[in-house]
Amino acid sequence: MTVGRGARLADLPLRDDLVGRTPYGAPQLAVPVQVNTNENPYPPSAALVADIERAVADAAATLNRYPDRDAVQLRTGLAEYLSRTTGADLGVDNLWAANGSNEILLQLLQAFGGPGRTAMGFEPSYSMHPIISTGTRTAWVPCPRTADFEVDVPSAVATVRDVAPDVLFLTSPNNPSGGSIAPADLRQLLDAAPGIVVVDEAYAEFSGQPSAAALIDAYPTRLAVVRTMSKAFAFAGGRLGYLAAAPALVDALLLVRLPYHLSSITQAAASAALQHADETLGSVARLVHSRERTAQALRDRGFRVLRSDANFLMFGPFDDAPAAWRRYLDVGVLLRDVGIPGFLRVTIGTDDENAAFLAACDAVLATAG
Ligand code: PMP
Repeated sequence: MTVGRGARLADLPLRDDLVGRTPYGAPQLAVPVQVNTNENPYPPSAALVADIERAVADAAATLNRYPDRDAVQLRTGLAEYLSRTTGADLGVDNLWAANGSNEILLQLLQAFGGPGRTAMGFEPSYSMHPIISTGTRTAWVPCPRTADFEVDVPSAVATVRDVAPDVLFLTSPNNPSGGSIAPADLRQLLDAAPGIVVVDEAYAEFSGQPSAAALIDAYPTRLAVVRTMSKAFAFAGGRLGYLAAAPALVDALLLVRLPYHLSSITQAAASAALQHADETLGSVARLVHSRERTAQALRDRGFRVLRSDANFLMFGPFDDAPAAWRRYLDVGVLLRDVGIPGFLRVTIGTDDENAAFLAACDAVLATAG
């Protein structure tokens, strides 16, 4: 039973700027090969599952109490992990954590965007950057990428000076195209930007480029590095995103975060997962290797494949990408149509999934040709 079906969305007094919009939604379909949301295909080890069970059981015993509002233990673990892997010397005060990096992005826009302010990004990129900007009433200024979906730095610097956005989004590696921004280019953009520069490093562990975290000390009033445990860490279901920045910038996020936003269960599970970082991240080298092999296999089949530092590949061309997406689905492979004409995106999976994807490519090419 569902009550209230008499009302439709159009009947509600919705904010004008939300009328006609569609929600974010990568399809969640139960097909054999799901390679559409850039997750790590390897599930947590039995040892990690056991540690999470223990940590969550401990947390369950005190669920009558609110969680540690400032998630100090978890942030300490994240600071250690990030310092160890990026070379930046970060402490607990440099870290912030939330329910997925999407919530971090929301808090950044609540603190630094809003009515009368602008956010800018280089499109195509992660679709939630404009969606969260709009949701916080931050005017979104899209700036195009080159034909290869890279950021043309000299023209980007000029546009940043011109637009002077309050928040500038740089996604490195970029989703959906996969390329990273080199540190020297990043510095040029940081020097040109008057506001906050959000470097979204959701896929950083898959990239050979150094993290922007190394630049925090040089740009303490401007740089926010956003990370997630959803990708390399194989913790998408746990919902844990984090930020590295100067302590003052973390203080700004405390002004807008909801009290007790991060549950004791999430904090306990994420801290346990962090203890297994080396083991979990062992899959990264394997996925990078598979990415290169899959890219080559696609090129051998005549596809154009964009340079990727992440755990996915954008490939094409397709005369009709939505129709091609459907043909892959018909043979049991769920890809992502990110709405870029002529291209589809595939997440690197297990060896079996990658083989199934390539077999699907052959089947689709055979029916197309
Ligand atoms: N940033 C980028 C570039 C992403 O691709 C994603 C997930 N697709 C996110 C942030 C958000 O991830 P999460 O909220 O799971 O941390």
